[in-house]
Amino acid sequence: MNSPAAWINADLHCHSRVSDGTLEPEALAARAQANGVDLWALTDHDEISGQQRARTAALALGLPYLSGAEISVTFAGVTVHIVGLGFDPDHPALLQGLANTRDGRIHRAQAMADGLAKAGIADAYEGALTYAGNPELISRTHFARYLVELGYCASTHEVFRKYLVEGKPGYVEHRWARLGDAVQWITQAGGIAVIAHPGRYKFSVNAEYALFTEFKAHGGRGVEVITGSHTPADFIKYADAAIEFDLLASRGSDFHSPEESRVDLGTLPALPARLTPVWEALRDRVQRPG
Ligand code: AMP
Ligand code: MN
Ligand code: MN
Ligand code: MN
Repeated sequence: MNSPAAWINADLHCHSRVSDGTLEPEALAARAQANGVDLWALTDHDEISGQQRARTAALALGLPYLSGAEISVTFAGVTVHIVGLGFDPDHPALLQGLANTRDGRIHRAQAMADGLAKAGIADAYEGALTYAGNPELISRTHFARYLVELGYCASTHEVFRKYLVEGKPGYVEHRWARLGDAVQWITQAGGIAVIAHPGRYKFSVNAEYALFTEFKAHGGRGVEVITGSHTPADFIKYADAAIEFDLLASRGSDFHSPEESRVDLGTLPALPARLTPVWEALRDRVQRPG
């Protein structure tokens, strides 16, 4: 166990209405602080327009803040998420890269709606848009919320399973950013790139090894070990991977919504003491109150 003196309740992964969360950045800052988080990052998908609001709200509450984003990447035909932490949110290469990554989302969402229409669900694009705080960031999550509203399923998880994953009517193949590009945008902007929730990808042992190896070769430095979508067995597996690949370890709830998320901000177990927390390498990037 971590000693009390070393214990930092860092939560470095969550989403606001700027992407597919349901709370505003200010409400997330307040929730993080109320839950005892003492280092926080908002990591919206492919978008950093919520960063200034998150930072301002956090600092006003006395909560130290790191800039964050979660970039969608296609690696070996699979969607992989790369979290960036502690970058300069005004860096041109990062801004351009994120804009390019967002670019295909509206077209993809229209194609998803076409698929759903063939399955008898009309006007899903317009319906999903009513849930999107930011139309450029329209995501499967917004479709899921709309289909729950229509009564097709009881939960967003059920909508994903029945309508939005490969082989289902609302699924559309999409090419996101390249792994090396996403890592470089983050790194060039002075941040650290982290493999998000590795336990979620359906990789073979060899493909996962290739992901970690290529990520490191491109300059990636961290991996999420303790995250809301990992099982206790994943905690151990990816702690071992952090040691094997000499990666810094991160911790984040991936909180999206009080109604939908199983894990709340700041409530996960601590990082195993044998790992080096990513925030130790980001000390000079933390924005501190006052
Ligand atoms: P997109 O970027 O549009 O493909 O949407 C991906 C988002 O969908 C993820 O960031 C999660 O928030 C959400 N998601 C993915 N799989 C599931 C699932 N099985 N149940 C609920 N939400 C999911
Ligand atoms: Mn999401
Ligand atoms: Mn993710
Ligand atoms: Mn996430």
